[in-house]
Amino acid sequence: MKKTLDCCPYQEDGDLPFTWIEDHCSICGSITPQLAIAMIQAGWLVSPLGKDYKCYIGHELVYFQHLSPSHVRSFLGLFLAGKVNLRKDSYILIAPFFAPSIKIVDILKSLTP
Ligand SMILES: [Zn+2]
Repeated sequence: MKKTLDCCPYQEDGDLPFTWIEDHCSICGSITPQLAIAMIQAGWLVSPLGKDYKCYIGHELVYFQHLSPSHVRSFLGLFLAGKVNLRKDSYILIAPFFAPSIKIVDILKSLTP
């Protein structure tokens, strides 16, 4: 599996390029980055899955590889502003591959009364 931005993680060399079908990747099923950011901004619950490359937003799967650097900046801006409705359970221990230095646990601890 690829772990770089701006690609489909499951598209192999020689495959036909992925396409977006009703906001979902034709290969991996991820929703579009635009929809992912819009859902985060709308307050949908973000549920990490114990992996550094995917999560659920609501019931929609997101592979971080589909994000562009611009989408990553948007996500990190929302995250650092406390505007990501992150599910509070043990899976949050895993930081996304595009921002391995995120101290998610420390941030959550600081928010807990
Ligand atoms: Zn894909």
